[in-house]
Amino acid sequence: MSFKDIKGQERPVHLLQEYIRLGCLTGSYLFTGEEGIGKMLTAKTLAKVLNCEAGPGDSCDACPSCLKIEIGEHPDVQIIDGLGSDGCVGAAEPALYAAGQVKIEQIRQMQRHISLRPYEGKRKVFIIDNAHTLTQDAGNALLKILEEPPAASLIILISAKSAMLLKTIVSRCKSIKFFPLKRSALEEILKNDFRLEEGRAHFLAYFSEGRLGRAIRLKDSDILKEKNSAIDGFAAAEDKARARTSLNALAAWFRDIYILKAGAPCSELINLDRKEELSRHRDNYTFADLDAIFNSISTALFYLERNANVKLLMSNLKASLQR
Ligand SMILES: [Zn+2]
Repeated sequence: MSFKDIKGQERPVHLLQEYIRLGCLTGSYLFTGEEGIGKMLTAKTLAKVLNCEAGPGDSCDACPSCLKIEIGEHPDVQIIDGLGSDGCVGAAEPALYAAGQVKIEQIRQMQRHISLRPYEGKRKVFIIDNAHTLTQDAGNALLKILEEPPAASLIILISAKSAMLLKTIVSRCKSIKFFPLKRSALEEILKNDFRLEEGRAHFLAYFSEGRLGRAIRLKDSDILKEKNSAIDGFAAAEDKARARTSLNALAAWFRDIYILKAGAPCSELINLDRKEELSRHRDNYTFADLDAIFNSISTALFYLERNANVKLLMSNLKASLQR
C-alpha cells in the first residue's frame, strides 16, 4: 500500500504529504477516529514513505525498505500494541507482556531504541496502537520521550478512544482525525475497487458503518447468507450471540418495511438484496403494527442482555410477531 492506494482518507493523507513536502513532519502525532477506517494503514504507509529508497512523496512498495515495513521486519519501524501481537517486543516474551495494555517495559524498550541512530533507514518510526491502553507508568514514561523526541524519529499514537488518553500526552502530539466514509462512498469503493456485486456492496456499506477495514474483513464471508438466515430463522437462535445478531437483523428488516411504507427510495434499504419481498410485505403492516414490532424486538434485546432464557425469549418474540 502506498498513499495513493488509501481509500477515503484523502484529508489526513494530504495533510501528511504536505508536512513532508514542507519538511515539517516532526515530533509526535496522534491519529484518532473509529476502529477500522485506516489509521494503522496510514501510519505504516507514512513509515514507508519516510524510508522509501525510490523517491519523495509516496512509497514505491517495491524497494527493500518498503517490503520490510510491509511484513513488519524493518529494524527502524516498530509497532507497539497492548492488545495483540506487536513488532517491537512482546511477541517474543509473551509472559512479560500480557495482552490488554501497553506496559512500561515496552515504552522503556522504545526509549532505548529511539535514542540510537536509524539502523538502515532514514527515519525511525514508532507506532503505538491502542494508545489509550497505556498503563499509568507507561504513559508517564512516554511523556518523557514526547517532551524531547530525537530528531531522526517519528512517534505515531493511534487510538479509537482518545478521550481515555492522558491530556498531557495529547497536548504533546499533533492530532489528525480520521472519519468513517460516507455510506455511498464506501459502496462505490467496494464495487469499483473490490469488484463486489451491487447487493453485497450495498449491504456491507450499511453494515460496516463507513468503516472500510471492517467491510474488507467481512467481504469474503457469507455475510448476506448469514444476514438472511438471521432474519428468516431468528426463532432458532439458541445462544446469546446468535440471538443478538438475529434480533438486530430483524430490526433492520422491519426498519426497511417501515421506510418503504414512508415512501423512501429503495436505495435507502439495508436489505436491498430482498427488495421485492420487502415491497410485498409493505402493505401487510400498519405503522402501528410496526411500532409494536419494534417494541417487542427492543424488549427482547433488553432481556437478552440481562441473560434471559434465549430459547424462551425468541419463541415469545415469534409468537408476538405472528399475532
Ligand atoms: Zn520504497
